[in-house]
Amino acid sequence: MLFTSTDFSALDLPEHLSQVRHEVREFLHEERRQGSFRVHLGHGEFDAEFSRKVGSRGWIGVTWPKKYGGREASYLERFVITEELLAAAAPISAHWIADRQTGPSFLRFGTEAQRQKYLPAIAKGECYFAIGMSEPNSGSDLASVRTRADKVSGGWKLSGQKVWSSWAHKAHAMFVLCRTSPLAENKHEGLSQLIVDLPSPGVTIRPINFLNNEHHFNEVFFDEAFVPDEMVLGEIGQGWRQVTSELALERSGPERYMNTLPLFFALIDRLKTSPDRMARVTVGTLLARFASVRVMSLAIASEFSRETSPNLATEAALVKDIGTHFEREVTEAVKMLLDVTPGVDADDELERLVGEATIFAPISTIRGGTTQILRGIVAKRLEGGV
Ligand SMILES: Cc1cc2nc3c(=O)[nH]c(=O)nc-3n(C[C@H](O)[C@H](O)[C@H](O)COP(=O)(O)OP(=O)(O)OC[C@H]3O[C@@H](n4cnc5c(N)ncnc54)[C@H](O)[C@@H]3O)c2cc1C
Repeated sequence: MLFTSTDFSALDLPEHLSQVRHEVREFLHEERRQGSFRVHLGHGEFDAEFSRKVGSRGWIGVTWPKKYGGREASYLERFVITEELLAAAAPISAHWIADRQTGPSFLRFGTEAQRQKYLPAIAKGECYFAIGMSEPNSGSDLASVRTRADKVSGGWKLSGQKVWSSWAHKAHAMFVLCRTSPLAENKHEGLSQLIVDLPSPGVTIRPINFLNNEHHFNEVFFDEAFVPDEMVLGEIGQGWRQVTSELALERSGPERYMNTLPLFFALIDRLKTSPDRMARVTVGTLLARFASVRVMSLAIASEFSRETSPNLATEAALVKDIGTHFEREVTEAVKMLLDVTPGVDADDELERLVGEATIFAPISTIRGGTTQILRGIVAKRLEGGV
């Protein structure tokens, strides 16, 4: 059954984390006071300067070994830091992918040279990564990727196309999932991960703009781009195992349910003088839902603090599914309870936040695994009874 191996009794956060929470809050308060960022819902702003400040405080690569720029702190500490950054809607997109996904992948599969090259720079908030997995005909069915790398002397020639590559136009490098041997009966075989520095000869990055014209993601084209052997991540042919091994980390964090929290705070703030029964029930229900998903997410972080790589991919799928729907429910509740006209350029902060949350709504239930795929994973596990 789901979460059976998870210890929910150990969820009182260690005392010293209150101090960490306080420090992050103080930092964010001061940054806001200085006008370094404003609350902005959606995909998180890309702000290299802000990421450098976060890195200089030791809040990137928190759990990593000290020799690679980390602090060897627990996943629970990372959880607390992340909660505070998200609650403030801080602009953390520049370092986010590298902190959450790329770093742990280097620690598990990278060579010593790769770790030395990238990890300290990531931890300083100075090196950013993009993820090159999705393709025009390979999203949910990721194993069908067609971007391919052919062996040549000293490396690989990479050809193909990726799509929806978040921040690839600003990243220093990209993990590319590609086929290194022809499609066989088992399509999970013959896949590999290559590290491609950006920009590189043979790599073209073209923008895809959002509805509101913001530039977040891209199409990335590889035209026989040369990737040296030392830029293979892990083992050739083991790409599928490698990319799926980080799913629990990728899908279970507070970023899967906290994106509309500033809107929830704003709702409570507006209601506080005159909440009617409907408002009280709605806010109470949302609060209970938030508390439940947070406990589940925290339980997974707690397991990661005990074990390097617990097998919690299904539990994480559940957190992401419940969490991303909670985010949508917050937006719907605001529209139902308050008389607001959503507008991304509105002067009124609440109207602006509702506008941003409305544009953002379809995103969170798609990226990192769609609702249907997540529910399929959970259903299979329930069916199997394990
Ligand atoms: C904001 C954002 C950022 C992103 N950033 C990145 C990035 O940096 N790098 C990257 O590689 N990708 C990125 N993606 C892509 C994302 O991972 C894919 O969009 C996602 O995996 C879905 O793939 P797709 O868009 O091809 O949809 P499809 O897989 O074509 O799915 C279309 C619909 O069919 C449903 N469906 C598909 N298969 C099944 C099935 N077996 N059973 C039931 N229903 C099914 C899906 O749930 C969905 O509703 C990003 C996406 C978004 C929205």
